[in-house]
Amino acid sequence: MAMATNAFEMAQKQFDHVADLLGLEPQVREILRWPLREYHFRIPVRMDDGTIRVFQGYRVQHNDARGPNKGGIRFHPAETVDTVRALATWMTWKCAVVDLPLGGGKGGVIVDPATLSTSEKERLVRGYVQAIWKNIGPREDVPAPDVGTTPQMMGWMMDEYSKLAGQYTPGVITGKPVGGGGSLGRTEATGFGVIYTVREAMKHLKMDSSQCLAAIQGFGNVAQYAAIGFVEMLKGKVVCVSYWDRDDRCSYTVSKADGIDPHFLMSITDQYGSIDKAKAKAAGYAIEDGDAWIAKDVDVLIPAALEGQINAETVNHISSRVRIIAEGANGPTTPEADELIKQRGIFMIPDFLCNAGGVTVSYFESVQNDMNFYWSKEEVLQRLDEKMSVAFAAVLEMAEHEKVYMRDAAYMVAINRVVKAMQLRGWI
Ligand code: NAD
Repeated sequence: MAMATNAFEMAQKQFDHVADLLGLEPQVREILRWPLREYHFRIPVRMDDGTIRVFQGYRVQHNDARGPNKGGIRFHPAETVDTVRALATWMTWKCAVVDLPLGGGKGGVIVDPATLSTSEKERLVRGYVQAIWKNIGPREDVPAPDVGTTPQMMGWMMDEYSKLAGQYTPGVITGKPVGGGGSLGRTEATGFGVIYTVREAMKHLKMDSSQCLAAIQGFGNVAQYAAIGFVEMLKGKVVCVSYWDRDDRCSYTVSKADGIDPHFLMSITDQYGSIDKAKAKAAGYAIEDGDAWIAKDVDVLIPAALEGQINAETVNHISSRVRIIAEGANGPTTPEADELIKQRGIFMIPDFLCNAGGVTVSYFESVQNDMNFYWSKEEVLQRLDEKMSVAFAAVLEMAEHEKVYMRDAAYMVAINRVVKAMQLRGWI
């Protein structure tokens, strides 16, 4: 799911490929290739200096046959309606593959949030809700944070919606801060979810996880908890992580042949996922160039930073020891590299299955909001493990039965589920 020139064209192409494999009827394709609804709106905001700036906002609802639409709101200067459409489409498949009773949605505002003061941000997010509140809600469409938006902003959005609706409605938005309607376990959810799928893949491939090594790209939210999970749950060793160094304006791989200590590295990492390399070096870690992670002699590669990192250039550096690639990031593998990985027989855990732990715990958040009863972190994580393991098994079964690549199998499971819901509702 790398961002090509036009992400929506790419999402449609991926869909067309699987629609061919499934032999979908033309009218079914016609529904699923496009979002069912989209809203374009202007948001006037009074800036701190008294002037008014008008921002462009979007909310796209791709398909809600399986339940309310679900997906984040992105604040980015390069946001386009096609990016939002693509992300909404991918959310439909992501929710379906983990069997959440949700559809796919996504929102966006063309803005660089770093240029706004806190009070300007608050007025912008409240303005966003004022524009769209009649078309979102716990039973219609449930937004969440994404690039450029934060739990605090979700708290403001929930408050604005509750005021307009005339009642406290925490389930309208997820990703809220804990104590303000958020769920325990959300921080760990995506990284641990990655590891639950790696564990299942190792069982299938009959690998002894305690003898396995992993290399991870990135050291942000997903990578940190994937590293902890690999070491503590699977008893394996993580030989390196990597990060983007803002001072040097390049990436580095931070490695230790006998295994990194993720908690120590987290203690010297800032909120943006940048490691203090002097402190790492002093503790015996080697600092290598940013691409070194992909060439490590390991059993598992976990790209958990950015899109397009395993590409035509880097794919040839992957060691012959690698048996599993677990895509923690969204779209880390380009289509050309994916083809080579498929040919080499490396077991792929595709992004929208592998990193679905985040949206799964977001779903648990809205369930807890609905009940007004909150689970312990252990309960959240145990339910997450169950969801991820069952989803993995369904995709593996499809891959084996149809003799297809895991990425195609994941799409087939997801699209089949959405088509079935449309049939049961009498849409097709
Ligand atoms: P983050 O911002 O917390 O961390 C990103 C990490 O990547 C940082 O350590 C940063 O230094 C590193 N990085 C950036 N550029 C790099 C480069 N060129 N080389 C090496 N490292 C680099 O982000 P995150 O929340 O961990 O998300 C990572 C990926 O996972 C993204 O693709 C995101 O869309 C995806 N994802 C995240 C979640 C979630 O719940 N956080 C859920 C699903 C998917």
